Order: sequence, then C-alpha cells, then structure tokens
Amino acid sequence: MQAIKRNILLNPGPSTTTDTVKYAQVVPDVCPREKEFAGLMKGLREDLVRIVHGDLQKYTSVLFCGSGTINIDVAINSLLPEGKKVLVLDNGAYSARAAEVCQYYGLPCIDLKFPVDQRPDLDKAEEVLEENPDIGLVHTTHNETGTGILNPIREIGALAHKYGATFTVDTTSTYAMRPIHIEEDNIDFCMASAQKGLMAFTGLSFIVGNRELIERSKGYPKRSYYCNLAMQYDFFERTGEMHFTPPVQAIYAAIQAMKEYWAEGEEAKWARHTRVFNAINEGLDEMGFRQVVRPEWRAGLVSSAIYPDDPNWDFEKVHDYCYERGFTIYPGKISATDTFRLCALGAIDEADIKDFFIVFKEALAATGVKMPVVYRDRKGEAG
Ligand SMILES: *Cc1c(COP(=O)(O)O)cnc(C)c1O
Repeated sequence: MQAIKRNILLNPGPSTTTDTVKYAQVVPDVCPREKEFAGLMKGLREDLVRIVHGDLQKYTSVLFCGSGTINIDVAINSLLPEGKKVLVLDNGAYSARAAEVCQYYGLPCIDLKFPVDQRPDLDKAEEVLEENPDIGLVHTTHNETGTGILNPIREIGALAHKYGATFTVDTTSTYAMRPIHIEEDNIDFCMASAQKGLMAFTGLSFIVGNRELIERSKGYPKRSYYCNLAMQYDFFERTGEMHFTPPVQAIYAAIQAMKEYWAEGEEAKWARHTRVFNAINEGLDEMGFRQVVRPEWRAGLVSSAIYPDDPNWDFEKVHDYCYERGFTIYPGKISATDTFRLCALGAIDEADIKDFFIVFKEALAATGVKMPVVYRDRKGEAG
C-alpha cells in the first residue's frame, strides 16, 4: 500500500482520514443489489446504533446517500405529524438550517433564536412549549459547528418529552467523537455523516433513532419522494437495501473506518480529540487570539477565533500559505463577527497541531501581522 500525501484538515469536516480507509474504497466492482452488499450494510447499520449505546431492539439506523444536510431534511419532513408544529432551538447556522428546511416544505415552525455565543434559554423554550401544545417536534444541534458551542441536549430532550414532542438532534459534529448515550441523553433521533466523526467519506449519511416512532411516522404526510425516513427504513427492513442506489465506495470506506473506531475505542478517541482541541486552544491563546465561545461552553471540537484588528490581517492569504503546506483552515459561519475555525476532527493528533502552529505563525509573520495579535476593543474577551 503506497502512502498517500497526508493533509491536515482543520476544517469542520470532511476530516483527515487514514490510508487504510482511503484504500478500502478500492474494491472489485460490485452491484449493490447483491446479497453480499446487503450483508455489509446490515452490520454497518447495527454498529451505527452501538456507537450511541442504543439497544438494537429499540433503536435502528437508516442510511441515506447524501451529505449531512440530507439528514436534517429527512428527519424534519418525515417526523412531523399532520397539524403539528416544529420548534427549533436555534443558536447558530446549523439549527437555522433546520428552520429553513421547514420553510421550504411549508411546515409551521417556531424558530426560537438565541445569540450565537449563548446556550438556548430553557425557561424560554419551556414557555414556548407551554403556549404551543401543537408542537410535535423539537430540534436542535448538539455541537453548533458554526461556533463550537455545546447545547444541553439531555435537558432539551427532557423538556420535549415532557410536552409530548419528538426530539431530533443534529449530532453531525459530535457523533463518534464526543460520547453520546441515545437513551440517557433523551434523544429520539440523532444523525451524522461518514466524513466527520467516523473519519470516512462524504456520500453516506445516517439517522439513528427510535423504531417505534419511525413505525408511527408511516401514517404522517409524505412530503418528499426521495427523502422519507419511513420509506427508507421499510425498504431496509424488508430487503436489506437502500431504496435507490447506495454510495458503494463510501460504504466500504465507512466499514473500514468503523473497524478502526472500535480498535481505537470510544474513550481513547475522545481523549485524542480532546488533546487536539486543547493544543489548538493553547496555540490560539499563546498568539493572543480571542474566541467566540467561553471555555466552559465549548463542545471540545471546534474553536472559533475572532479576526484580529490588524490592517495586515488577510484570512485568504493566511489560508493559502497554510494550505500550500498541507494545513487547511476554515472561515467562520457567524454573520455579525468575522471569525475563522480550527477543528479537532479527523485522524490527527497533538503533534499535527504543533506542526500547524509553526506554519500558522510563519504565515502571520510573512503577511506582516503583529504577534501577539491585537484587538481594538474588548470584543470576545469574556470567551
Ligand atoms: C457538517 C454538518 C452538517 C452537514 O453538512 P453537509 O455540508 O451537508 O455535509 C450538518 N450539521 C452539522 C452540525 C454539521 O457540522
């Protein structure tokens, strides 16, 4: 096996993969309608439930061919009963995406917005649930990848259930990284895609959730031909296959990535991501960068640094300097503040971050940015 050039991706997914996962895609041509392939998907579906400690009797996983956003689309359009409303607890770009899905499907939605550097106010959420007994689905994001803030999903799930609503959580940027316990965390449905925590490839996404609720949703309005959860679940249960053509190579890679996940172990993997995250924050702190999210609210996977007030600061130039040297950094996703992100996803470790900061400092020096970096006012200082 020839080594493939290793790039350190510090963007919020797709993430750096191992060569063994890359090569797992190179297989003899196969028709995915063969029993052999269905068998592979069965094992993968079960493992996806095991990652969140789900009981296989009660929980299942349903695979889709698409990037992570397909899960949000599917979950929202499939799990809302007729005549009910969606409540989105929205403190960032990814939760806002769920509210947009509602808009596109013409579904009634309360988009309960909170500042992007704050956690959702649960008293406020409860007030809304009390006033709107027709809320049938509550949705939020676990790690709001736009900023890196961790939302209190266990408490939000308890609230949703207290008011009889289904709780869907976008765990795309925590799944297979930060440990999740689907039942204890009061999650009815969570979701992710293979290119993030699993450290495999884009094209395979999955929703993990409660079988009984999927069964019940068979009676809900069918709002999409391609993106319906009960339809896809039913097809899997009856035939072991996806309704339409699966992303064959992405599935082979995900199966290899799954082997590597169990070999590394949940705890050791989370410890590694934490090491990487700490190294990122230490590097940023040392250079004087301020961040959007206060330390105690960070999900431990995404750092959002605020652009310094230096006339020479030019994100594009810094990005290009790093990119040419094998390190990818990423712009932020907040409209009011200019930020960039460094993420702890992927098959990387502390030493890669040390190497990155050498290059990053060179980039700042080469573009004439003063170090430690300077800020004009006190913005972001609390974090
Ligand atoms: C990455 C991500 C997604 C999916 O984005 P795609 O570009 O569709 O893969 C969805 N939600 C969160 C929280 C994410 O981090």
